[in-house]
Amino acid sequence: MAETFVLRDFTLIDGTGRAPVANQALVVTDGKISWVGPVRKLKAPAGAKIEKLAGKYLMPGLIDSHVHLGLVDGITQNLKYQTTANIEEQLKTYAAYGVTTVQTLGTEQDLIFPIQQKRKGRTSSPRVYTVGQGVVFKGSYGGVPGLDQSVATPDEARKMVDAQASKGADLIKLWVDDEFGMLDERMPPQISTAVIDQARKDGKKTVAHIFYYDNAAELTREGVNAFAHSVRDRSVDDALVNQMKAKGVWQMAATLSREASFIYKTLPFLDDPFFSRGVTPAVLTELKSPERAAKLGAAPNFPKYAAALKQASDNFGREVKAGIRYGMGTDSGPTARFPGYFAHWELELMVQAGITPMQALTAATSANAEFMGAKDIGTIAPGKWADLLVLDRDPTKDIRNTRAINTVFISGTKVPTIWQTCKGRAATACEGRP
Ligand SMILES: [Zn+2]
Repeated sequence: MAETFVLRDFTLIDGTGRAPVANQALVVTDGKISWVGPVRKLKAPAGAKIEKLAGKYLMPGLIDSHVHLGLVDGITQNLKYQTTANIEEQLKTYAAYGVTTVQTLGTEQDLIFPIQQKRKGRTSSPRVYTVGQGVVFKGSYGGVPGLDQSVATPDEARKMVDAQASKGADLIKLWVDDEFGMLDERMPPQISTAVIDQARKDGKKTVAHIFYYDNAAELTREGVNAFAHSVRDRSVDDALVNQMKAKGVWQMAATLSREASFIYKTLPFLDDPFFSRGVTPAVLTELKSPERAAKLGAAPNFPKYAAALKQASDNFGREVKAGIRYGMGTDSGPTARFPGYFAHWELELMVQAGITPMQALTAATSANAEFMGAKDIGTIAPGKWADLLVLDRDPTKDIRNTRAINTVFISGTKVPTIWQTCKGRAATACEGRP
């Protein structure tokens, strides 16, 4: 017996970028969308439960193309917290914020692969795409403490790519950075070309962590598929943008929320219930502490982040104007970069960088799915999983309306939203929705 239900009377934002359409209906059968169209054409299957969503907005669940899983407990970062149980808990937080698929970028041990496999079936946890472990050049920036993922030669690089591909990595990641010049090395071209070439042989896309214009230009020449961050040392120019466009390089993630999070000694949203419901009181206290603020403010790189954010934002805007393809990704997961909340902040910052709310929503749904090769998610269409986000207010009018979360479905199953979450406290201890 098929399990069927109907949602009706909502305004549809289908994820393709098509304008919202009022008075729509949806039939979900065994976790997948089996029909979508105007209410007047709806033929509700006999016995199907019908839910009326008048005044609401229905869109595909959000996809975050750049996350890391299981790196922290609260805001304490340590690889020992990378357990299946902790990853599943973090995935629940993503789900509560309407993020129904994530792509992890290169700091996950092999326990990620069984979790990744769950996406292929009916699940009530966000779907996971993964790099497994990304490639770091010995002595340069990248990876996380405790995980040895560095290579010293092109041969080692090729072997590492093969190893990740054979484990089932969806794509290959490489880091090309020296942390504001604090490290002596950046991955040299003979290594990055080996990574990109070997990945291509294995049928995998490559995505690069970059910071510098010069590395972005070099990697574009070498045939990388996407950038996991914006260029942050100078403005992108026509030469780079035209070459990216010619080669089909995506700005897969601009990670503006990552850059923005670094400019504050005390994060500006700690009293916003949309944020605070997702963290424990102990974490809130730590985030508000004057000692933490003093420590962050005294860090040598602290004064550099405002300029990096401005540059990232300007460059993202320039690339979009020039017709570069882009997705939405936050780089959440490391300490104080919060699952789910950052996706909504990212969307807001993308709009501030010059795109429309509809463009931002499309980046976070169909565009991300397209880049990831995820054919069963990203739009509202027959055959796709019923990974759905129902909102009380129109996100195309004001991107901050993505926070007006009414319901989240994964494979047609309702999961607790952030407004039904009050982490580490009794359900009644959290502030209500503003
Ligand atoms: Zn990252």
